[in-house]
Amino acid sequence: MAFKWLSDFHQEMEKPPDYAEKTLAAYKLGMKAGGSIAGVRIQVDERCCQAAQALPAGAVYHPDEAPRLPLAECPLGRKCRCVYRPVMGYEGEQGGRGAGERRPGVAGGKGAEGEG
Ligand SMILES: [Zn+2]
Repeated sequence: MAFKWLSDFHQEMEKPPDYAEKTLAAYKLGMKAGGSIAGVRIQVDERCCQAAQALPAGAVYHPDEAPRLPLAECPLGRKCRCVYRPVMGYEGEQGGRGAGERRPGVAGGKGAEGEG
C-alpha cells in the first residue's frame, strides 16, 4: 500500500491565479501601515524551477517590483513551489550604508570570580 499521495498532497497545491497580486498587495498594506514589513523576498524551493533559482539569492524587492510568481519560465506553472516571504525591517539591515565605525575593544574583560 502506498501512501505517497499523503505527503505529495500539499506539494501539489496550485497557486490561485491571483496569488502574486494578492500576496504582494497584502505586503504593501503591511508596509503602508507602518508595520515591520520592509519588503518581500522570494523563497525558492530547491526542487523547483531553474528560473527561480537563477534569481539573486536573498534579494529583497518592493512589492511593486517583485517578479510575479509563478515565474513565466517556470515549467510547473501554478504548481510552482516558490513563494513570497515578507521581509521584516530588522532583517534588512545587512547591507551596510558605509558606517564603518569601530569601537576599540573593551579593556579588561575578566570579572569572573575565580574558583577557589
Ligand atoms: Zn518555480
